[in-house]
Amino acid sequence: MHRFYLSSVPPGAEELPLSPEDARKICRVLKLAPGDEIILWNESGIEYRALITKVTGQFVYVRVLEELENTAESPLFLNLVQGIPKGDKLELIIQKATELGVRRIYPIVTERTVVRIPEERRASRLQRWQSIAREAARQCGRVRIPEIAEINTLDGIWGILEAGAIKLICWERETAGLKAYLRKVGRPPRVPVYLFVGPEGGFSPQEIAACIARGGITVSLGPRILRTETAGLIGLSLVLYEWGDLGGL
Ligand code: SAH
Repeated sequence: MHRFYLSSVPPGAEELPLSPEDARKICRVLKLAPGDEIILWNESGIEYRALITKVTGQFVYVRVLEELENTAESPLFLNLVQGIPKGDKLELIIQKATELGVRRIYPIVTERTVVRIPEERRASRLQRWQSIAREAARQCGRVRIPEIAEINTLDGIWGILEAGAIKLICWERETAGLKAYLRKVGRPPRVPVYLFVGPEGGFSPQEIAACIARGGITVSLGPRILRTETAGLIGLSLVLYEWGDLGGL
């Protein structure tokens, strides 16, 4: 069933108007009509089954029928700390990481980050990234839109992460495998998990040393050097496979 985002659903709503963009999509693209059902969702974690009751000009009205339980959220609080890559690769990473079930994405500037996003462009870039996450969440049936944090530095990020969280640093020169670590811990932890991935040039030795000094655990994703966008998505997949709901519960 088609899903539409609505920031709040008033209880018992009888004639709820949808946004003009959604109304346009319903009429022109999906060609839905009164009597058809859709799903309304927002970050509350609850979805609603709703009936299209009226279509007038550019307005679409719905009646909320019932609450639905959503099971598309992973029980694991997994976050990606991603060195900003070149071009628009981060957009792909955000889209795919959202599908995989990540909760939050932190774009970071590291020593070897090539792209410099000027201060005045950061707000619009963030908005674009956030809208990509929202669209991906809608498409894959999630109720929680992953939050894209403001651009930070690798150094700055340590100041905002919870002390008790697990911080896994993907490092191509590490020999200890991620798989072994995940299996050693065994049961999924109840604390948030952060997966760090460097930009194209990787993390510098000093950065790796600083991460280790602050409690980061360096892990290998295998013997081949992966591109930054592959590393993030594979790393997230492996963690969600072992500790989350990827591959089924
Ligand atoms: N330029 C570096 C590779 C960087 S790859 C070199 O040629 O040595 C970009 C990022 O992907 C790295 O910072 C790391 O976080 C991750 N990565 C790639 N392959 C990896 C592997 N085999 N194990 C762990 N992390 C890896």
